[in-house]
Amino acid sequence: MHRATKIVATVGPASSSLETLTELIMAGVDVVRLNFSHGTAADHQAVATRVRSAALSCGREVAIMADLQGPKIRIGKFEEGKITLSSGEQFILDTNTDTLGNQSRVGLDYKDLPKDVRAGDDLLLNDGLIVLAVDRVQGSAIYTTVKVGGELSNNKGINRQGGGLTAPALTDKDKADIQTAVDLGADYLAVSFPKSAQDMEIARQLANRAGEKQGIRVKLIAKIERIEAVQPDVLDAILAVSEGVMVARGDLAVEVGNASVPALQKRIIRTAREANKLVITATQMMESMIFHPMPTRAEVSDVANAVLDGTDAVMLSAETAAGKYPVQTVAYMASICTEAEKSEPVHLDADFLDRTFQRIDQSIAYGALFTAYHLGAAAIVTLTDSGSTPLWMSRYLIHVPIYALTGNISAQRAMCLFRNVVPLQITMSDDRETALSQAQAILRERGVVQTGDSIVLTIGEPMGCAGGTNTLKIVRVD
Ligand code: PGA
Ligand code: MN
Repeated sequence: MHRATKIVATVGPASSSLETLTELIMAGVDVVRLNFSHGTAADHQAVATRVRSAALSCGREVAIMADLQGPKIRIGKFEEGKITLSSGEQFILDTNTDTLGNQSRVGLDYKDLPKDVRAGDDLLLNDGLIVLAVDRVQGSAIYTTVKVGGELSNNKGINRQGGGLTAPALTDKDKADIQTAVDLGADYLAVSFPKSAQDMEIARQLANRAGEKQGIRVKLIAKIERIEAVQPDVLDAILAVSEGVMVARGDLAVEVGNASVPALQKRIIRTAREANKLVITATQMMESMIFHPMPTRAEVSDVANAVLDGTDAVMLSAETAAGKYPVQTVAYMASICTEAEKSEPVHLDADFLDRTFQRIDQSIAYGALFTAYHLGAAAIVTLTDSGSTPLWMSRYLIHVPIYALTGNISAQRAMCLFRNVVPLQITMSDDRETALSQAQAILRERGVVQTGDSIVLTIGEPMGCAGGTNTLKIVRVD
């Protein structure tokens, strides 16, 4: 059964063995996320090596996404590991202490926080579960009253409701991690907390420099998790300089308020697709499966709605990194996606009503899409080197799968994130007729097409030299 929506799974203690990685890939993982908020460079390198061999043993490729920690502001540690705060209590956040925290105060890793907050602000800790109201700031100390209490343990994150923190998007740790990510062969680099296109451009420069010797240009995903980044002009500018975005609902919800997130998710997904960019929907999608073998009905709806919003991928975090049922979660998520896709409306004709095209390759991509849809083709096959033709095709929802055949392994891996695209590697013949029958044979072998089915193919001619897609061919499988 073809599934269009891709699954991103975060690796952690629950899933970093070769065995579990293999099971995860078999269950449907398309992109493996390495979370650089945890672990050492050597850990990530070792996991990446295991991911590649697990994929190899499954007979397919996956993409690796390295997710930078970014300037997440965190409290320090407590004498007892944790405390419990009750509403009405006084609590101090102090940037100038190295001693362990207690019931009345705790240290903080971001020295400038006292400059960024003022009396009346709300600070949210532990993904918004704890709320502290700022009473006053005095030197290095932020005096607060607990508004919403609860358990607070070591190193929990802090956000300011409404945004406005000035920490730069890339820390020294991130800069070192970019090199690690490039060296371990990451296909995507996720940048945390960018506030502007400029933050992404800085990341781009660092990433390109890190890959210069090997000739690697890693693709960038901007995590949309700051209030600044959802301003329409800022989002457009960030998209223009990134390959994709992540709706990073955890931190985003804390900054903008939970209730604003569903509408923002829809807008971010729509804007990304219209800009020919990729989009991942992340965080708490199957949260209860960290502990239970079944998701809640609300989680099922959440995943299905992200699919219907048109996301390229849905992401798992703690569910696969630290949960009790990582493989079951992926399998369940895959089944929700496949089911939701059946009811996906197709608006292809309306989408193209007043369009004009500038580029030949783009015109062929859309021509193939339109033809496949109206002809009821069994598949679109695109012979691609860079992946741009399948990217354009995959920005529109149709129920015809797109098989992207490439001789380029990094393009193949990158396309694992593209909605509705099945990337396959072939040693491509320079002869058109040979390449076309190769393509047919591959689809037949995989049971995608049978005698009598039509396939819509796109190719760049002359073959064997760099150049854009310029040919559309329709064949009936014999
Ligand atoms: P994180 O990002 O898991 O790295 O915090 C995703 C989010 O904030 O939702
Ligand atoms: Mn985040």
